[in-house]
Amino acid sequence: MRDPYAYHRRKTHAVASIGADNVPRVVARLNNTSVLRMEDLAAVGHIYDPASDKWMMRDQAAEFLYMGERPLSFMAPAGTRQILDYDTWLRHEDRFYCVPLIEVSGYLQSSPECHSVMNVIRCEIRDITPDLIDKLRADITAVLLLRSDSHSYYTSMRMACDTLLLSGIATPVILEHELSAPSVDELVLRAATDLGGLLVDGFGDGTMLSVGNGDEVDEALSLRLAYNVLQAARTRMTKTEYISCPSCGRTLFDLQETTSLIRSHTDHLKGVKIGIMGCIVNGPGEMADADYGYVGSGPERITLYRGQDIVQRNIPAAGAVEALMDIIKTDGRWVERT
Ligand code: SF4
Repeated sequence: MRDPYAYHRRKTHAVASIGADNVPRVVARLNNTSVLRMEDLAAVGHIYDPASDKWMMRDQAAEFLYMGERPLSFMAPAGTRQILDYDTWLRHEDRFYCVPLIEVSGYLQSSPECHSVMNVIRCEIRDITPDLIDKLRADITAVLLLRSDSHSYYTSMRMACDTLLLSGIATPVILEHELSAPSVDELVLRAATDLGGLLVDGFGDGTMLSVGNGDEVDEALSLRLAYNVLQAARTRMTKTEYISCPSCGRTLFDLQETTSLIRSHTDHLKGVKIGIMGCIVNGPGEMADADYGYVGSGPERITLYRGQDIVQRNIPAAGAVEALMDIIKTDGRWVERT
């Protein structure tokens, strides 16, 4: 019986780099996008430099590219794999670095030629039948691409994930979601509640999120949102995280100005969590699981924390940001900005 008050990630086995202890992977949906030039992949985090003929991968870059029936006409960036619709994959010359997407009906009805390492099986909750579960149980190459057209996306996906959990199969799951809304705020809210809820519940070894306004998919926004939801769910940290108090009458310094100063020095430190709290009365408790804390402890006085432990008490505010940076450097968690 799972403890409903504790985080447990559903146990899965690894297929390629998906599942088991791997961080959730991000799949970019590009099957309806015109990707003609290498430069077109900049929207999903892969920057091509023609001068050096090299790719640069951002911290937030898609690791799998779902190209559907339109494979790239050039070699995909190192570290990525294309996912192609099954018939397209069958005809493709590189059937190792490309992997097939097989609709569940095809997966069940015949024994199609498959990839030796990874096969993506697309299904919905109604497809999760005893036949499918039996087949998945014996297949160590399958990754489920799970989706729902229900208005209640979270509920139906949660039911599907629970079914997989109770069946005891360890097939990794990529959560597919298409969202359309008139405003970015609405897209953010829906992505956070739909996907974030599942990730916090311990479900999902990857995401394929596509967001936009009507038929127009915004690839860059989809990618950013996917990574932000993963970070907010604490399942994949790709940037610095700041926890700052809302500020109140007890605040002992200009919280906004100080937060932006700290951010300007530290926003390249991937995975570091910094708490910036207005007062010592409630600040240490409110910054929860931050790695470092910058807490007002008197007029023009700051106390610095490593986790919940005080490292420097009541130091002058002038120079406190530099002292915080020195602590991070001492801990070996500092990298120079590139
Ligand atoms: S940490 Fe202190 S200053 Fe910040 S909101 Fe809480 S009580 Fe107010």
